[in-house]
Amino acid sequence: KLFLASISVAFIAVKWSAPSFQPESLRGARVLVTGASTGIGEQMAYHYARFGAQIVITARREKVLQQVADKCLSLGAQKALYIAADMSSESDPETVVDFALQKLGGLDYLVLNHIGPSPFSMWKGDIEHSRWLMQVNFFSYVQMAWKALPSLEQNKGSLVIVSSLLAKMAGPFTAPYSSTKFALNGFFGSLQHELAMNNSNVSLSICTLGLIDTDTAMEKIRGIIDIPAAPASEAALRIIQTGATRQEELYYPWNTYLATLTKDWIPSATNYIVRNAYNYIP
Ligand code: NDP
Repeated sequence: KLFLASISVAFIAVKWSAPSFQPESLRGARVLVTGASTGIGEQMAYHYARFGAQIVITARREKVLQQVADKCLSLGAQKALYIAADMSSESDPETVVDFALQKLGGLDYLVLNHIGPSPFSMWKGDIEHSRWLMQVNFFSYVQMAWKALPSLEQNKGSLVIVSSLLAKMAGPFTAPYSSTKFALNGFFGSLQHELAMNNSNVSLSICTLGLIDTDTAMEKIRGIIDIPAAPASEAALRIIQTGATRQEELYYPWNTYLATLTKDWIPSATNYIVRNAYNYIP
């Protein structure tokens, strides 16, 4: 009871102390969203569009990006441009940032969200896949952030990193994915301190998401684990609000935060629950 009461008090305190979101602050904002052809990234593009932002979206599939960009314009985006790029390439991450800087004349928001496909299964020794996924899910984030920082600094901008509960506590079947997310949290957690210590104009938000009902995620877990998933559109909105209000962290849905506390406070019970939540027979 005491545990639950302290969690509730902590949440109310955080909610009260959080600055309130002003949707008009995003009108005309220059935004680059990665992984925006589908899932949470696509939903973020639509929200930014409704707020009247100028958007550049990127992913690999050009035709799908074109459809998303068209919808963004119909929803009210001041601009909606797209560039097809593969984040496993060493040069594409920087090319994408250059494109956005040139077409929008600078950046106010860089939202790094893309992930490469990765199997949801036991680790079977595919080191090449892990290396490839590190480039897509981690190194490309570092490259893009570094390239965009001068413009974000100039414009009092925000860098938003979409991460996962699996960056805080590992689960089975996701070793390569989880390692890329732990790397993100380590790198950008360190950068968060450095920006603050340098009195930088740039805010850096790290967003910790639990299970979200995107097609990719739902397809992966089907028949293996049965837990409720939160809506992608709401997750997208919460990420945007976190960036716009310059908060350092987001936990969505709220019980994601509870899971990280439980893992730290009662690790053996948490591990027991995690391992028994999966439908797996060796
Ligand atoms: P999706 O799989 O739905 O979307 C991934 C996006 O990345 C797509 O737009 C895809 O487009 C793009 N992409 C894939 N490979 C590449 C590549 N090599 N180069 C460039 N772009 C690529 O992901 P979600 O929306 O489910 O997840 C979004 C974010 O949220 C991720 O960072 C994820 O880790 C995080 N998250 C999601 C959770 C969930 O349950 N859904 C839970 C926790 C965190 P294309 O195929 O056209 O390239």
